[in-house]
Amino acid sequence: MHKKHDDLSMSVGSLSGVGPKTLSLLKQIGINSLFDLLSHIPKEFCDKSETGPLASINHGDRVVASGQIIKSIRTKGFKPNYIITVKGKLGVFTVRFIHKIIIFMNLQPGTNVRVDGKVKMKKGNIEFIHPEIETFVDSDPLQSIIPRYSLRGMISQKKMRKLILQAFKIFSPNYEFTTLDDYFNKNFNCMSMLKAFKKIHFPEGSMEQAFEQYNSAKKRLIFEEVYLYKHELLENLSKYEGKKSFNISIEEGHTENFIKKLPFKLTDGQRKALGKVFDSLKSNQPSRVLIQGDVGCGKTIVAVIACLNVVRDRHQCLVLVPTEVLCNQHFKTFSNLLGDLGKVAKLSGKHTRSEKLDIKHALKTGTISILIATHALLYNDYEFKSLALVVIDEQHKFGVKQRERITSTYSNQPHLIYMSATPIPRTLALVLYENMNYLKILDKPDSQKQTKTFVYSDNRRQEIYDHVQEHLDNGMQAYWVCTRVEDTLDDSLQSVKVFSDIIKNQFPNYKTAVLHGKLPADEKIKIINDFQSGDIKILVATSVIEVGVDCKNANCLVVENSEMFGISQLHQLRGRVGRGIDQGYCYFIHTDSVRDETIEKLKYLELNTSGFDVAEHDLKMRGSGTYLGTKQSGLPDNYRVTDINDIMNNIHQIKKFTYNLPSARIIEFKKRWNIKKIDEVQL
Ligand code: ADP
Ligand code: MG
Repeated sequence: MHKKHDDLSMSVGSLSGVGPKTLSLLKQIGINSLFDLLSHIPKEFCDKSETGPLASINHGDRVVASGQIIKSIRTKGFKPNYIITVKGKLGVFTVRFIHKIIIFMNLQPGTNVRVDGKVKMKKGNIEFIHPEIETFVDSDPLQSIIPRYSLRGMISQKKMRKLILQAFKIFSPNYEFTTLDDYFNKNFNCMSMLKAFKKIHFPEGSMEQAFEQYNSAKKRLIFEEVYLYKHELLENLSKYEGKKSFNISIEEGHTENFIKKLPFKLTDGQRKALGKVFDSLKSNQPSRVLIQGDVGCGKTIVAVIACLNVVRDRHQCLVLVPTEVLCNQHFKTFSNLLGDLGKVAKLSGKHTRSEKLDIKHALKTGTISILIATHALLYNDYEFKSLALVVIDEQHKFGVKQRERITSTYSNQPHLIYMSATPIPRTLALVLYENMNYLKILDKPDSQKQTKTFVYSDNRRQEIYDHVQEHLDNGMQAYWVCTRVEDTLDDSLQSVKVFSDIIKNQFPNYKTAVLHGKLPADEKIKIINDFQSGDIKILVATSVIEVGVDCKNANCLVVENSEMFGISQLHQLRGRVGRGIDQGYCYFIHTDSVRDETIEKLKYLELNTSGFDVAEHDLKMRGSGTYLGTKQSGLPDNYRVTDINDIMNNIHQIKKFTYNLPSARIIEFKKRWNIKKIDEVQL
């Protein structure tokens, strides 16, 4: 029977050498189908081309050599060695096995081997001790560029290569060119998927040639993946097209009066953001605005003023936040600023049944004008009387699924404002967030001074204690961030539980408290209140404080094991201080033994204070492969081969994609790629 190209959907279980155990290991690294296997692209190439015969070889050099075994001996004695002598281009050399020699005893004269390892020069003779060793037959020589995969130690590199070869041999003879092969070939001069898999997994030629081929092959995969995700996104957006929204009337006089009463003057950036927000609130089609601005630039007030206008127009607002801490903080800010201009309520995980019923009722009747909520809201069906605006703060911490659940039920769709401190390059944002109004707040309130940042090695800890002592004596407060809640036996990272004792001893005259995500909600709230009121002077915390704690009198932040954090996250943490008029100070402590690059990474923060610069630097340093994979980056991590650099590097072509191919085939591809339904995708 004629076989379809969909051999690629076959389970890896159909390959020989894949029993139930391997099957489950593969599953753990996300490999179920032949397609999964082939789209698991190598993390690096290893050059196994032979070291030339004329190369000058020194003791300790890494050498790759192949040849035929001409002699093998097993030494006598209590701990015998197994030594083979090999003759090849490099001349004659020996390979010595000291451990597990039984395994290597099948290496007998006549066998061809390739070895890769450090050489030991012994009286002019070349010897390898336990090198990487492979055997081959003349009719089937070894590849000289070997791909290496990230396999989390689940299966061996060799086995992975064998499975990939097997899979490739199964599907390639019957490969049918797909709609996307044609599309990408015709419009962007791309190779077919078949060829791309071949180039990626079976590199040929020199290392440089292999890389060049790999890059154009990977581009073919990236194109398909991005195409399918965007196709899904656009389909989803089209569902909202033509839906009505609320045409909010903005009263400038009223707004200006409110602004005049604020304890500060708005920055230009905040003014501009407000202008954009007002424009979109006036539209009778559901609008989407993404506001990006560094921590501390003052996004909250923009949201407050937007809500003010919606409420004055007799509609309701929902402000979604990722943590209870932030929920509480915003509840305070909104209620204080709005006073009796609007009834503000909050809803987080910890409410009794009757409290929830009350809130539910008040939302339906319209008594509550603004609800500040964590995603607790999303798992119950709360109904609003007239929900006209949804603000999603720290939007990168939310999934779209959650957003969908709020908005899809209403016939009149609310406007959406996303706020994020994660700067995504504009071009990328436009590609990722189709149809969205996008603006940046670039300035910061004048009153805020640049926070001073210092990187310290653990052995200079005493100096930090002295600095912090000084700040405390000056009447200021401090955050002390640890990576862990509890100590584990196997690592040396500081945990809040153990560390708080050290702090208490160090600063006996100042009240200390511990804050972490596992505490009950009311306890967390109490601790933060006490910290804000100045009752608690030192807050020993995990990175839960990253968003939402606003304490203007805390001017100093210490991070233990700062090497464990990405610089973007450290920058977020840094945003906790320097929020008032006092100079902020950050001390990043790293373990003595960290690598120089790590210290360099931390030192970058000493010199750079703009979140946009930090994010860009972070991106460059992490390089490809890891950036999309981390939630901290605030970028989608749904992609399997594509990372942010790939999108940036190909952005002009990606922008030119058109999405009118026959949808039946596209659905098939989406299934194969396991493209997440858009409601499970993190935007
Ligand atoms: P973020 O953008 O990180 O959400 P916030 O909205 O929490 O920042 O604002 C940070 C701090 O700056 C808050 O304490 C806020 O009251 C203050 N703030 C906001 N706007 C201004 C301004 N124009 N002038 C002075 N302080 C401001
Ligand atoms: Mg904020």
